[in-house]
This record gives sequence, structure tokens and C-alpha cells, in this order.
Amino acid sequence: MDPIRYTLTFPAPHTHYVHIQAEIPSAGRESVELSMAVWTPGSYLVREFSRHVETVTAETAGGSALRVEKTTKNRWSVSTGGARKVMVSYRVYGREMSVRTNWIESDFAFINGAATFLTQAPSTALGAGPSTMLGAGEMARPHEVSIVPAPGWMRSITALDPGARPHSYCAPDYDTLVDSPILIGNPDLHEFAVDGVPHALANVGDMTFFDTPRAVKDLEAIVRAHKEFWGSLPYSRYVFMNLITEAGGGLEHARSSVLMTSRWATRTRKAYLSWLELASHELFHAWNVKRLRPIELGPFDYEREVFTPSLWMVEGITDYYGDVLVLRAGRSSAQEFLDSLSDKIEELQTTPGRAVRSMTQASMDAWIKLYRPDENTPNTAISYYTKGAVVAFLLDAKIRRATGGRRSLDEVMREAYARYSGTYGFTPHEFRALAEHVAGIDLGTFWRTAIEGTDELDYSEALEVFGLQFRPANGTANGKPKAWIGATTKIDAGRLLIAQVKRETPAHSAGLNVDDEIVAIDEVRVRSDRLDERLEQYSPGDRVSVLVARRDRLRSFDLVLGVEPPRTWRLEPRPA
Ligand SMILES: [Zn+2]
Repeated sequence: MDPIRYTLTFPAPHTHYVHIQAEIPSAGRESVELSMAVWTPGSYLVREFSRHVETVTAETAGGSALRVEKTTKNRWSVSTGGARKVMVSYRVYGREMSVRTNWIESDFAFINGAATFLTQAPSTALGAGPSTMLGAGEMARPHEVSIVPAPGWMRSITALDPGARPHSYCAPDYDTLVDSPILIGNPDLHEFAVDGVPHALANVGDMTFFDTPRAVKDLEAIVRAHKEFWGSLPYSRYVFMNLITEAGGGLEHARSSVLMTSRWATRTRKAYLSWLELASHELFHAWNVKRLRPIELGPFDYEREVFTPSLWMVEGITDYYGDVLVLRAGRSSAQEFLDSLSDKIEELQTTPGRAVRSMTQASMDAWIKLYRPDENTPNTAISYYTKGAVVAFLLDAKIRRATGGRRSLDEVMREAYARYSGTYGFTPHEFRALAEHVAGIDLGTFWRTAIEGTDELDYSEALEVFGLQFRPANGTANGKPKAWIGATTKIDAGRLLIAQVKRETPAHSAGLNVDDEIVAIDEVRVRSDRLDERLEQYSPGDRVSVLVARRDRLRSFDLVLGVEPPRTWRLEPRPA
């Protein structure tokens, strides 16, 4: 199949544009339909990448203009006039600093495939069904990319296989193109090998304060721990793209990952550990989801949402092992590992939404909930990352208990990888059956309650198996319980605003709303930075009047102060 050949140029990168010329074979058809993805794998939100596409024009190889018609929000139809190939030109604006979008500036460009490349649309009438099934042929076409770096840019880095010329690359199909972001500019490249397989850390951004030698050494140890876990490395080379751009987040790919971080990320132990855990999480995905995947997550329909109940397994188990493997690599202490896990347990157990939405529901609703949080989210939803990691910990303990410590969740993952990492994927039933096979017990009740249900989780077995306990609570100030209104606040332009009202709190019962400005308690003004100090003057059970400004109108609410819930979810080793 003839390839699509793209050329990327950056005539004025400071204006945040990449110019693209695509040579598209027509196979003698009267018209070719081009489409741009509306979402990108690993990040489950319709992002409408085509909104940044400008001035799509087309001509023949000889330079005669061809007619281009926009047919849907993300499709264009080009009349070929019988030409065997058409040259399509367009430009894309990129100034969103996230792991799944484009960023172009004078210093560098970070290019994501889904947000950049128009490809031959699957040849099906719109809405006729999953386009990948009917149009798989088009997606399987090779896609070649040539980059003309802006003046002064020396390097381009991507997991795509290199082509014959500098800055040229080949993707065997559209999926690989989308799965291989490209970094262009002067990234700092630090290479290391694990098991003879080349790896690299590619830094871009402000490296002044970032301790790269230490990061490389620790990454190497983490990669080694992953290799030990799975038995071998599933790729022939791997690059960690580390954008030191005062942003956050990570995104997994089959042979690379993107990390966004701060210039200060190696300066404090806490920040550095989060960076290591992020890198470890994304690397674990090279197995779990990029190769071992739920059946729904591939081949992808890039023009519609893809629904799966299994994101708890994809993200939660990955989050659990991301931290476990930092520990096994000797890069965190046992207590640091327990602190990370405690953060997750604490977040879950203080989120009222855990009683409303199960992990499988949260997974199905990722598209409308996880990536679209609002002030009511904690009341109605839980994160399948957070609960998934906690449930992975419980499941790990359950398998260890059932097998007298001979087997663990490790074996489930390795066995799942051996069985299901081919092109087919696994169904939820198959994954559960495999876990039961490894554990040698029925896991029906656990699955129904912890994974598909909203029951409170039972930690007792895991505490026993791992020799842990929750640290005795210490929620008192000066020996007396702290008075509590139960709303989260923020300071905005000197005003003390309510940011979040969780269910079953004094603020919720009293009728305080998000965006209310707290003006006074008992008719004495509360300065925006002094709420805690004011509450210390009261005891739980005291009745107070809270004066707020709601859309500028003053209103008073009676509120009975509660007791600040003690922190009861911090893990520590049980004394021998
Ligand atoms: Zn992830």
C-alpha cells in the first residue's frame, strides 16, 4: 500500500504553528476523504483536535489547485481530478502544554500524532459503524514523516523508526504514528542500556535546576525492576520524553512516554519521588495497556469514544505497580511507599462519591466525568486510578492469603500478559477468571463489591497479610477536638470563597454553596487567611451564624460546627 508522506515545517515557530504538507495517494479515486482524530488513546476525552486546523488546500503534483470540501467537523473531501496523488497543505496551531496536545514555540516543538496528521478516512458512510472495522485497510497504510527543523533546532526525537534521511521517520500504520509523539528542538539526550536495550531520557525546557544525572541513574534502576517483574523488555528501544515546562501529567506509548514536570522536581524528596513514580507508572503501561489490553481498547475508532469497564485494571493496577516497582528498585523506602498508598486510601475514603459510583461505572464514564471534573465531582464520582490502586493492593493481599504467600498479583499480571497480549485483548470475565485461577479461589464476592460495587472496602485482610496497621488517629488541637465546617475554601482576590461542599458535612447541611464568599462568623468579620484561627475559638457542637455574600447579596446561615475528622487512613508497619 502506498504511504502517506508528510513534511513538517516551522517557518515561524514563535507563532505556535506547524505547517504540514501531505502527499496522499488516491488509488485512482475521484475523491479522497481525510479525517483528523477527535481523541487520542490513553486520554479518554473528545478533544476535537480539528479545531486547531487551518487553511486546508490541495493541488496536484504539477501544482494545479484541487477542490477541498469540509464534510464533517473533522473530515475533508478532496476532489482528485483523476490525479494519482494529491498534495494537501494545512497548518495546525499548537499552544496547549499537555501530554496529549501540541506545543510549538521558538525553543522547541512537541508534536502529537492525533492532533497533527490528517489521514485517509476509513471509507464508510458516517455513523455506519465502527470505522476501524470497515476501514482498517486505510489505517494499516504506512505513514512517513519528514521534519524540517526550525533554524537552530538540531535534533528530533521520536520512537518512530528512522527513515533514510536525517529527521525522517516511518510508521507502519496510523496507530503507530499516533502512538509516537515527536520532540524537535535541542533536547538534551541521556542514553543508557538495560539488558542491552537502549533507553534514553530526553529533557527539554529549563534544565537549570533539574538533577539529570541522578534522574538517569534512578530511571535505569526502575527499568531494571520492571524487566525483573515481567521477565523481559517488550520493545527494542525506549525514550522518556521529559518536558520540564512547569506542567504535569504523563502519557504512555508502546516505545516511549511523555512526562511533564517542574524545574524544581528533583529539589525536594516528595517532588522527586512523584516524578519517579510517574515515570514508573508510564513505563508499566508499556506492558499493561499498550500490549496487554482490554478488548475494547484497540483497534481504535479515532472518531468516536471507545467504552470499556476495565480502566480500573489499566490505570489502577498500573498505579499500584508504578509505586511497587520504585520500591523494588530500591528508590523509595518502605515508609515512603506506604505514604503514597495511604494518600490513595485517604483520598478514596474521604470521597463521598465512593458510595455512588463503582469503578466499572467510573471507567465507562471516563469520557464525561474523569476528564471533566466539577465542584460536585467528589460527591458523585471516584477515580478509577485511586480506587483501582487501592483495590489492586487488596487483591494482591487476597491472592497471597489464598495461596499461603506462594503467589500474588504479580503472577496474575505476568500470566495475563502471556495469554492476552496479542492482538485480541481480554474481556473483563477473562481477567477475573485468570485472577481466580492464580488465586485458586472464587473471587465473585470481591469482584461484585470492590470492583463492580460501591460497598465500603475491607482492609483487614490486607493489613494482616502485609503486617500493617492504620496509625492511631490524632485529630486534636491542644487536646480538644477541632471545630469544623466541612467546606473547602480558596482565596480569590482577597475574598474567602467556598470551593467545594462535600456531602454529610456541616456546610452541606446548613446550605452553604460553592462560590459563597464567607464574610463573617457570628457577625465578626473573617479575614480571608484567618478562617482556621477563627474556628479555634469554637468547639464542635457550637451553633454559629455564617454571613456569606452569594452573588453579592448578603445572606446568613445557621450552622452547627462538626468535629474535624481525624486522619485515620495512614498506614504503618504493625509492631512485632
Ligand atoms: Zn496511566
